[in-house]
Amino acid sequence: MSATVAQIDLHALTNNLAEVRRLVGDGVVVLAVVKANAYGHGAPIVARALARAGTTHFGVTTVGEGVELRQAGIDGKIVILGGIWEEDVSALLKEELTAVIGDLNTAAMLSDRAMASGRIAPVHLKVDTGMTRLGVPPEGASSLARRILELPGAKLEGLLTHFSNAESVTTPETRKQLERFRRALEQVRAAAGEIRWIHSANSAAVLSKPDAHFNMVRPGLMLYGVSPSRELAGRASLVPVMRLVTRVARVRRVPAGTPVGYGSTFVTRRESIIATIAAGYADGYLRALSGRASVLLGGQRAPVVGRVCMDHTMVDATDCGEVSVGQEVVLWGGQDGAFIDVSEVARWAETIPYEMLVGVGRRVPRLAV
Ligand SMILES: *Cc1c(COP(=O)(O)O)cnc(C)c1O
Repeated sequence: MSATVAQIDLHALTNNLAEVRRLVGDGVVVLAVVKANAYGHGAPIVARALARAGTTHFGVTTVGEGVELRQAGIDGKIVILGGIWEEDVSALLKEELTAVIGDLNTAAMLSDRAMASGRIAPVHLKVDTGMTRLGVPPEGASSLARRILELPGAKLEGLLTHFSNAESVTTPETRKQLERFRRALEQVRAAAGEIRWIHSANSAAVLSKPDAHFNMVRPGLMLYGVSPSRELAGRASLVPVMRLVTRVARVRRVPAGTPVGYGSTFVTRRESIIATIAAGYADGYLRALSGRASVLLGGQRAPVVGRVCMDHTMVDATDCGEVSVGQEVVLWGGQDGAFIDVSEVARWAETIPYEMLVGVGRRVPRLAV
């Protein structure tokens, strides 16, 4: 079907969920972030496995992603972390998804539509404490909360904010954001009474900022076994969930002086064994990895030579022992005791593991193992 496959280790996933629970303790609910096709891992298989392991709350970005989860049989709470668009409201109401709101117009529109269909829409109110992305400014939070209370078709169930630093939350800016959020929370409580769910923590805050846990946390990356930064890696024993593999499509022994790939950006300096592997940037193996990355072949690191193509990549397999067509190649993950972390691949491409994972191509099957 496809030589390139993303193997999804569901035991690793539930291990990582257990690590989140260990860090936050009982009484704090995990809202598992499974947006962007569960960070490229396949939202249906990931969400089902998390649900079997007791997850009751899920977070996605769009209503479309929420509908996909419902179709996959997820009957827990699904919070739409991105914005709500008017044309999505009927699906939102029908599938009983929870909206995140940061302005009165959207809340009023949602309330009207909910009333018209005999429903009450649950909403979480988002406070913009420093990200300058979505949400109401802190000083407007309590009056918006009061206005939402007056809407007959909306029910205020949560208050949240989001940190502007995903790698480390021990920055002064995070502390300031948390202070602004606490102040807004007090004012919202004074204006609108107790709020069921209070949440702010991404993976970095789950790992290192207990005072940001409140009664709900929103981990994404760490569920997939990847630490948001090297400094935080020791805080939990996370196991990578995705192993991205492909196969050797062709092997050639060539003399020194042989150009390899588009633009002939690499020329062999010795007699070499060049293996063509069946993955390229259409599979999510970024072109930025050209001449910079390595893959695992026969348990050894084989450097990428020349430019990554759309569907293929050439690697120098001269030092990888006997190499044959069909042999397994690991783009990230382990092989015969060797390991390439997706964060390492991300550094080679000068990006972050989030982007590597969500970039895994649509044609790559996700297979639960
Ligand atoms: C993506 C996202 C998260 C998860 O962040 P991680 O760094 O992957 O843990 C949490 N909250 C919101 C609002 C998000 O958009």
